[in-house]
Amino acid sequence: MMISPLICPTCAQPLHQHDASKGLYCDAKHHFDRLAQGYYPLVKVKAKTPQSSVSRQQMRARQFLLQSGVFQPLVDTLKQLMLSLTTDKKQVNWLDYQCGDGYYLAQIHAFLVSQQQADNVSTWGVSDAENALFAASKLQSPACLIFSALKALPFADNSIDIVTLFDAPIKGQECIRILKDDGRIVLVQPSHQHLWQIKQQVYPDLVEKPFQINIPKRLSIDTQECVSFDINVSGDQALGLLDSSLFAWRANDELRHQIKAKSIDGLKCEFDVLVLKQI
Ligand SMILES: [Zn+2]
Repeated sequence: MMISPLICPTCAQPLHQHDASKGLYCDAKHHFDRLAQGYYPLVKVKAKTPQSSVSRQQMRARQFLLQSGVFQPLVDTLKQLMLSLTTDKKQVNWLDYQCGDGYYLAQIHAFLVSQQQADNVSTWGVSDAENALFAASKLQSPACLIFSALKALPFADNSIDIVTLFDAPIKGQECIRILKDDGRIVLVQPSHQHLWQIKQQVYPDLVEKPFQINIPKRLSIDTQECVSFDINVSGDQALGLLDSSLFAWRANDELRHQIKAKSIDGLKCEFDVLVLKQI
């Protein structure tokens, strides 16, 4: 039996793990097995959980892009950051919120292993998209993968040391509720300039804006870093980047065709990497 930060989604009592079956259970005998698809569905018994799903095409495009290493400078920055946040800590619970296929977590975790800095780190990946979790499991994510409603995460109050949001905005209070008092939230956000040359085609009247970010009231910025780099991409890659961006919906077929037809040299990529702490 191991001590975990997990709580029962039905009655909120601590969850224990059964050694032999790896199933999770609480003292009120609610039981949750790991599915063959590689994740635990930690959702209220008999409740309907809203779930999102990522289209297979979107997920493929994203996987293909990330695995081609286009965002390597960002990944390198995150590796060093997570190394510094986990070094000299006895036990670190790291939750990757909306973990997607787990690309960033897997890259960073492998790096921590190479630095002999992973033994004290327990990793959890949570998502409300079951197909993303299945993809993460197929890619042999080192994290314990959990399907959950994002409005009620199955973690105890003050139980998590680090919450990472690599590809999701911070919404609501759940990430803060589960965070330890001295915990940190790592938030990665594409900056206004990210994918600039593609964005210019989508929004013809685009102007540069200064840094602006909305942070929940109970948090403040501990550290902040801007990761900026240029990449050369083929038309196919440019289209993949457009498809995985928040402004994809604005591009009509004609524009998509134009973007696919032309490679871009020196495409600007820029991310703000914020470490947030509780006030
Ligand atoms: Zn229970």
